[in-house]
Amino acid sequence: MAKINDFNFAGKKAIVRVDFNVPLDENGNITDDTRIRGALPTLKKILEDGGSLILMSHMGKPKGKVNEKLSLSQIREAVAKALGRDVKFAPDCANAHEAAKDLKPCEVLLLENLRFYPEEEGKPVGIDKADPAYDEAKKEMKERQKEFAKTLASYADVYVNDAFGTAHRRHASTAVVADYFNEDSKMLGYLMEKEVQAVDNILKDIKRPFTAIMGGSKVSTKIGIIENLMDKVDNLILCGGMTYTFAKAMGGNIGNSICENDKLDLALDIMKKAKEKGVNLVLGTDCVAGNDFSNDSETQICSVMDIPEGWEGMDAGPASREAFKAVIVPAKTILWNGPAGVFEFDKFTAGSRAIADAIVEATNNGAFSLVGGGDSVACVNKFGLADSVSYVSTGGGALLEAIEGKTLPGVAAIEGK
Ligand code: AMP
Repeated sequence: MAKINDFNFAGKKAIVRVDFNVPLDENGNITDDTRIRGALPTLKKILEDGGSLILMSHMGKPKGKVNEKLSLSQIREAVAKALGRDVKFAPDCANAHEAAKDLKPCEVLLLENLRFYPEEEGKPVGIDKADPAYDEAKKEMKERQKEFAKTLASYADVYVNDAFGTAHRRHASTAVVADYFNEDSKMLGYLMEKEVQAVDNILKDIKRPFTAIMGGSKVSTKIGIIENLMDKVDNLILCGGMTYTFAKAMGGNIGNSICENDKLDLALDIMKKAKEKGVNLVLGTDCVAGNDFSNDSETQICSVMDIPEGWEGMDAGPASREAFKAVIVPAKTILWNGPAGVFEFDKFTAGSRAIADAIVEATNNGAFSLVGGGDSVACVNKFGLADSVSYVSTGGGALLEAIEGKTLPGVAAIEGK
């Protein structure tokens, strides 16, 4: 497998899968350019070597149809500004042969949204899964996906995948295209390398004690990762909305708190497994309850087992925060996914803030800390602490699947696994 740092791109055309799926406001202005900035080290390396760049990305979910609101032409200028040079634009990503051929060293070509073609995702459109003809349609679409990937590959000499956010998808541009390059001419970009390394630090190169903090709204969306972590961690903090499913399962009165009633057995099973595996499971014991799901709510501290009617648990209480801190500060490996409360409301940030502060303290003491998943990243950004942890992942679904122990198709396609 080639390594980007050792590769000389001089005179080569590189097609790079980037994640330029940036949020736009109603006027098409970029509201957060983190993803563009994230790709810059890779793009600059290629240009500084004297290579030329063909950039490909998706934006939003156009579902295989042209949708001008999701045109990548809207971000062309921002990309040009970030790279400090002109960016050409190919309005049809599957018919960019001429534009690619004409590209000179150090020039940049941006292809239109890959998902304007259903072949990118490779899912048959306009046919229901229950339809008897579905399997045939899927087979046909897979063939079309290969052709589409082959076309993209034909534009360039080298393929670089730097889009971690879509690495858990076997799409034409994220995985299939790699089949058309030999192993010396396909590689991960710098951002992908960093993400893969961060996951390895968590899953393979574990310095103990290892504390994982899983929060967010529901236990059901995190169960895969919780089960995989159970074999690896010393301490597992389960916080946020899922606290109340556990409290109810243990016979508590949880008032109006968020709860998955069909997951009560699952909660008891997680507690049993943690005991069997010797994992120190840390659940919140008290909470900051509110009588309205808003920032204007009145608040009171109460036991998670005894929340008054008309009130709901919206953040971790002071005793819980202390208990979380006690297993985070001495940790040497830390993973945080999902907030401890409704951090979007300033009144209910204390639990997430306590976790973030404890992680920073542990990191300052030499721990490796990885924060990932949309809302925990929003949390550390809100607290201005993103630079004080070891690594903030750009991946949501991809990060969770990697930590669940799944092989990411985007990485496997390059590493030949
Ligand atoms: P997730 O996408 O599952 O990581 O969940 C993130 C969301 O969980 C955030 O929007 C939080 O506001 C929400 N959340 C955290 N704690 C609670 C809670 N106690 N009640 C309701 N929502 C919560």
